[in-house]
Formats: sequence, structure tokens, C-alpha cells
Amino acid sequence: MKLWRSPRGTGDHPRSSTNGRSTEPSGFSLARLVEEAGDPHPLYARTVNPQFVRLLRTIGFDKRWTRAEGSYVEDADGTRYLDLLGGFGMFALGRNNPQVRAALEEALALDTPGSVQLGLSPLSGLLARELLARVPSRLGRVAFTSSGTEAVEAALKLGRAATGRSRVLSVEGAFHGLTLGSLSANGCEDFTEPFHPLLPGFDRVPFNDLRALERELAREDVALFLVEPVQGKGVVLPLPGYLEGAQELCRRYGTLFVVDEVQTGLGRTGKLFAFEHFGLEPDVVTISKALSGGYVPSGACVLRAEVFDSVFDSLEHAVRHGSTFAPNDLAMSAGLAVLHELDEHDLAARAKRLGDALLEATRPLVERYEVVRDVRGLGLMWAIEFGEPERGSRSWRVLERVQEGMFAQLVVGPLFHEHQMLTQVAGHRLNVLKILPPLTIAETDLARFAETLDDVVRRAQRIPRAAARMALRAGPRLVG
Ligand code: PLP
Repeated sequence: MKLWRSPRGTGDHPRSSTNGRSTEPSGFSLARLVEEAGDPHPLYARTVNPQFVRLLRTIGFDKRWTRAEGSYVEDADGTRYLDLLGGFGMFALGRNNPQVRAALEEALALDTPGSVQLGLSPLSGLLARELLARVPSRLGRVAFTSSGTEAVEAALKLGRAATGRSRVLSVEGAFHGLTLGSLSANGCEDFTEPFHPLLPGFDRVPFNDLRALERELAREDVALFLVEPVQGKGVVLPLPGYLEGAQELCRRYGTLFVVDEVQTGLGRTGKLFAFEHFGLEPDVVTISKALSGGYVPSGACVLRAEVFDSVFDSLEHAVRHGSTFAPNDLAMSAGLAVLHELDEHDLAARAKRLGDALLEATRPLVERYEVVRDVRGLGLMWAIEFGEPERGSRSWRVLERVQEGMFAQLVVGPLFHEHQMLTQVAGHRLNVLKILPPLTIAETDLARFAETLDDVVRRAQRIPRAAARMALRAGPRLVG
């Protein structure tokens, strides 16, 4: 069985071409290595993470994926799955987007002189200029990173140094990444619990509570307030006026207002940045996920020039913060192509249109099924929340005793196994199913998801014994 298709237009042994020169096959072939290895799960279990493989097997997600394009991934049997999870949001332009690939191929063919380290490639300045052209003018500098958590780390470090304060405030339920600084701002015990002690000076306030925020800010020792405009865990939307009020309070008490757009950014919510929905002008914005079209690790911390310059304030301090791979030419090339594609196809507007249609199609489920508490979203960041039926349900309680949030798994499972749709449970202990589909997804695919969901929820509501058994076996869930 062929696990990987041959690269387009070549045989099993790809010939590459650099600057018009063609290279003879070197005897190295990824396709052949993959083919010889066969099923990737035993090898991964032996060499990387056995428990993750156990989890995939338990919930039956241990497919042999062979190909991906646009909104679909294909398994070794040739079955296509609709990818509504979108790599946790990084495939905003669809998988293996040809325009982004073309930019990467062009960069490779040019033998670009990137990462000289004590020297510059033109590409980082070009991408920084494009990013700055798309955010409020008070933002004037870009610190590139290789991931979302690293963009948050940059915000934490530069924010502390620039203000001379050390406290960091974030909100309950927040997710900002899993390195130690970001983790210290994380509002989810399931992620933080085994890694204590976290960094000192980090505190959390309830989301959507301006009074609690003001109580902390009024001490005038908070360097930065870090907030996702829409919380990724659970897709929790801000109450009207909350983010605007938070920005106002930050200004009043000398705290930097940091908006984490790692998940919401680059068109996902129906605007290029979610903060635009609320007319905000943050001091710092973090970006990642969609920035390189899912091809290359990439991220950015965009901040006010005064903040950046107060840290990088002299010749000796010219390299106070950085990351070896961050402004690499492939990430920069992909980023330029992604911004071009977002503009060219007005994908933010498309996300709004499709997201509105999806909400309209799925909101009636709240009335239709007792077990559906809420359907919510902004653009193509969408979720359905389940709750115990008002009349009570014994099987619901049995399920939830095993693990809170188990019902959502009863919906994720059949969507995947019976309807070939990849979705996720949106966080530990949350009974929320979430999707982050490519912004390029076909309208008919989203409509099909809405119809299928209706059917699957109707059946799951009866909590059939077999499904409950599956859920009980599954235990942990995939969260992101
Ligand atoms: N911030 C937010 C809002 C996120 O959703 C995530 C990842 O899901 C991160 C930060 C961390 O990004 P990464 O996984 O690239 O480190």
C-alpha cells in the first residue's frame, strides 16, 4: 500500500531544482522511508509518546493519514475526512495551500541568505512592514517568534522590562501556551498542576469581571494584562463593553493591555484581528498559528515602539531578546504569502459570512435538544455546549461522574467515525465541542456539518449504551 503519494510531477525519487540547476537524486527519499516504516503508531509509541498513541487508539483516531488538501485529510483507504479542527487553527488557508507553497518553493529556489544572524535578510523587514500596516498605528515594532507561546513570552518579558513592574494579570479559563511563562498565565489547572511552582507575580481574575480587574490594577504594580479576545478553551465570548473597559482600566493604571490573537488572529473571527470587533488599540498583540499557512513554525509579538525601544535602548542592548529560528526566511516567505492570500480573497469577510450562516443553522439546536445549552461563535470560531437535561438524566450523571465533559466526546466520536468529520472537545472538564475550520472551507461542507450535527446530537441525547461504553473507555480527550 502506498502511504505517501509521489511529489507532483516526479517519480519516487524527487529531483529538485535550485536556481535552474537540477540535482540528481541523492538516494534519500522521504516517501520511501515512510513506506518502509509502515504504520506510524508503534514507532511513535516506542520513540515519542506512548500515552498519546494509547489515547488515539482508544478513541479510534489512530488513522494512517496519507494526504491532505484544503479542508480534507485522507487516510490509507482513500477515505476523506472533513477537517473542521484545522490543525487547532493553523490551517486558516486550508491544508497545503498552493500559493503559500509556491512562495516557499520560490524562497528555496532562490537560495536566500537567511539567518546570517549577524546580518539581515530583507524578508523579516518586509513581513514586519506588512503586519504593521494591518494594525493600529500606535503599534510600531515586531518581535518574531517560532510559536504562539514564544510570542506570549516575548510580551511578558518586554512588558515587564518596559514598565519596571513584575506582576502579570490574566483571566480564569485562559490559554496562552505551555512554556513556563505562558503557563504561569494559564487559567486551567489541568495544564499547570504538575509543573508548580510557576513563576512568581502571576495572578488571575475572572473573565468578564471589570471590578475584579480594577481591584488588581489599582495597586499600580501590574506590568501587563493578558487576554484572549475570545477564549479558545470553550469559545467564551466577552460581554459587551468588557474588553473596551479593560483597555480603559489598563490605560488608567499604567498597565500594558496585551491581546493574545494567536488563535483569533488573521481572519478567524471575521476581522483580520478580533480586537477590531471592539475598536481596541492594544499595546501588544501576539500572533501565530495561521501566520505561515501551517507550513513553518512562526509567530510574532507586535508592540508599541516605545515599549520595544525602552528595552532595546542602546548598542549594548541591541540583542536583549530573540530566538535563533524566529525570523527565518521560510517563515517570513510563508507569512508574506499568507497575508497576500487573506487580502486577495477577503477571507476575513468570508469567515464572517460563513460563521453567521453556521450560527443561524445551528442555534435552533438549543431549542430542539434539551442537552444543548448554547451555540456560540464569532466568524469561524464556533462551539456547541452541552449540559444535563433539566429533567435530569441518570445516564448523563453516570457519564459525567467518570469525567466531566464526557458527553461532548459522544458527539465528536460519531462525527468522526460515521461521518468522517474531525472536530474536538474544547478543553478539560468542558462539555463543549469546537471547530476551527479553514476560512476557505466550502459553504456546502459547513452546511453538511450543521445537518450532520443535528442528527448526531439527536442520537447522542439518548446516550446509547455502546456509545457510553466507548466514552467511558476513552477517559481523556483531545484538547487544543
Ligand atoms: N495563545 C493562544 C490564545 C492559543 O490558543 C495558543 C495555542 O493554542 C497559544 C497561545 C500557544 O501557541 P503555541 O501552541 O503555538 O505555543
